[in-house]
Amino acid sequence: MRRAFAALAITMFAALNTDLAGESRRTLDIYFLDMMGGGSTLIVTPLGESVLIDTGSLEPKHRDAERMHRACQQARLERIDYLITTHFDSDHYGGILELSRRIPIKRFIDKGPPPRHQQDNKTFRTLYPLYQQATKGNVTALHAGDDVPLKNDPAGRIPPIRLHCVASGKEIEGFGGDIDAPVKGFNIRRPDESENARSIALILTYGKFKFFAGGDITWNVEYHLAHPVNCIGKVDLYQVTHHGLDQSNNPTLLEALSPTVCVAMNGPKKGIQPNTFRALNALPGVKAIYQIHYNILYGDAGNTPDEFIANKTNPEGGELIKASVDAKQGTFTVCIGVDGPKREFTIP
Ligand SMILES: [Zn+2]
Repeated sequence: MRRAFAALAITMFAALNTDLAGESRRTLDIYFLDMMGGGSTLIVTPLGESVLIDTGSLEPKHRDAERMHRACQQARLERIDYLITTHFDSDHYGGILELSRRIPIKRFIDKGPPPRHQQDNKTFRTLYPLYQQATKGNVTALHAGDDVPLKNDPAGRIPPIRLHCVASGKEIEGFGGDIDAPVKGFNIRRPDESENARSIALILTYGKFKFFAGGDITWNVEYHLAHPVNCIGKVDLYQVTHHGLDQSNNPTLLEALSPTVCVAMNGPKKGIQPNTFRALNALPGVKAIYQIHYNILYGDAGNTPDEFIANKTNPEGGELIKASVDAKQGTFTVCIGVDGPKREFTIP
């Protein structure tokens, strides 16, 4: 795997000067797409490379694929360079085939399929063949400790960018023990054998800016990302793990991440549950919590003020949240929609 990525990096290196000549793109842009409680996050680097993390759901037909394609068009992409599937739950890979029919996808990355005994269910038997049809076997496995080989500017005119995997398949970078083993004095929960716990978790750094996107990893994996070694450190932007569900968002990790801005990929009836909402609000460094949807289940116990919610009144919404990072200036902005009013935050 590493060798394959190294070869790819060399060919990309050759094209770099051409890309820099225009210097048309100077920010790192991150689009949090409305998958109605599913996952899909589009990253476009200052050098114009693109990474899509997850592809929402298959049903209702074409909704999520069209939303992802629209975001790609808004970002003026002609292709997706890397498509990472964090795990094989229906709200994270269902839209892949329809999307692949709308825009070319160069490389597919995942953590490998679920264990065989977890493949015997109708959803997997329906969706995985569509995934295989989209990828045509062109898939690279991403392990904890690996990088996705994004292009960098060899002349250093653009701050370094790195997309790094810290957890994958229930393995954590630098941790060789049993994730589910009890730890005296800490709340380790029952083993989670679901796909969620096996999600790929990623850190994207651009200069001093840091973004954590942990897919749907759950409590015990989160704990070991922060303890005994704090693998990630403070982040500027946090994609609230697992749509904001309380199965995830272990306060030990949240305190270690100490984010400035949080974005929850929730749905009208899914995610950003009260315990998570309370834990996020209790973090001293948090300046803003954004949500894709107003959650009708929890009222003020699970909803940020209206101006931070992308889809407040229309549950069918489709509105996205966009973050743009200017690492040279040391700031990033967040807005609702591609060009809505921006709030600016400092990168410490
Ligand atoms: Zn999910």
